[in-house]
Amino acid sequence: MTILVTGGAGFIGTNFIQGWLQHSEEDIINLDKLTYASNIEFLKSIPQQSQIKNIHGNICDSLLVHHLLSTYTPRAIIHFAAETHVDRSIADPSIFMQTNVMGTYTLLETAFNWFKNQPDTVRQKFRFLHISTDEVYGSLTKTDLPFTEQSPYHPNNPYAASKAASDHIVRSYFQTYGFPVLTTHCSNNYGPHQCHEKLIPLMIEKAINEHKLPIYGDGQHSRDWLYVGDHCAAIRLVLEKGKLGETYNIGACNEVTNLEIVHSICTILDSFRPRKDKLSYREQISFVTDRLGHDRRYALNPHKIKSELGWSPQEDFQTGLKKTVEWYLQNNPI
Ligand code: NAD
Repeated sequence: MTILVTGGAGFIGTNFIQGWLQHSEEDIINLDKLTYASNIEFLKSIPQQSQIKNIHGNICDSLLVHHLLSTYTPRAIIHFAAETHVDRSIADPSIFMQTNVMGTYTLLETAFNWFKNQPDTVRQKFRFLHISTDEVYGSLTKTDLPFTEQSPYHPNNPYAASKAASDHIVRSYFQTYGFPVLTTHCSNNYGPHQCHEKLIPLMIEKAINEHKLPIYGDGQHSRDWLYVGDHCAAIRLVLEKGKLGETYNIGACNEVTNLEIVHSICTILDSFRPRKDKLSYREQISFVTDRLGHDRRYALNPHKIKSELGWSPQEDFQTGLKKTVEWYLQNNPI
């Protein structure tokens, strides 16, 4: 059997493929445009090469998607591919609308047209798993309860809006056509292989290069941080046991402010790679003008995936962060 992954050369995709191949004999077709955010070299170094086929291409290319579906007859599509950096979406939303909205629509429509003509045996097993984010729900105040799957959508930046639009399109294919979709909303991931422009790798890189550590606003924006391996385990579970048409929140119940994260990174670096002058890396922290439309707080209630599917995160945040910092120090060409 085979699964088709989109965006498998990105941060979560590479971790997902690595984890998948440790758990399954099934092959993976990875369709990835190989944007600046991707890391195909890592995928090429995974030992189980005979199980991975990397296809350099765009999810907006319906002929290519159709060709892959007809050639490999995957039992599932796991759709990670997206433009993901909020700051870039604020500077220029256009590619976010093309990839996240039109790309998801094209993938979905092409997959649905292929699916309609498949025998019952293929149709019964097939799943389209759409990977979404907590950002579609918008921002919480300090006292609000975490978002549930019933929370209304309030996307506040172009990235979140493009993901919200794609979620609605995916949902409509289930409601209208009975296409077997599942959607997951995950909180902020951390771990190895993340593009260097995201908070954790960026702060490590800047710290050891003796640059300032820029923190937006007052640094009190808080996010729920989940280890990427725990996210990937949740995705495998939703794929196998998730109820068609349902959405699942995947969160760690681990809310941390941006300032706390940067403090923790500095503390770890102080012990792993002390500064020459023996001062703490915290000396390099500098507060900068806040991001436009910056959401104050995200938090997810993961009760549904825990109680219905039996998922729970395995990684402790402090040890997970330590492992992550160590990984970037050893592996990233900083
Ligand atoms: P990423 O930016 O690291 O990787 C995205 C991957 O998609 C890259 O390999 C890129 O080349 C590929 N891609 C982009 N446009 C494409 C296109 N048109 N066709 C084919 N491939 C294309 O992203 P990530 O952090 O791994 O996120 C993966 C998914 O998970 C996204 O859908 C994102 O919205 C979602 N998500 C991410 C987080 C997080 O904390 N990183 C949290 C929740 C949800």
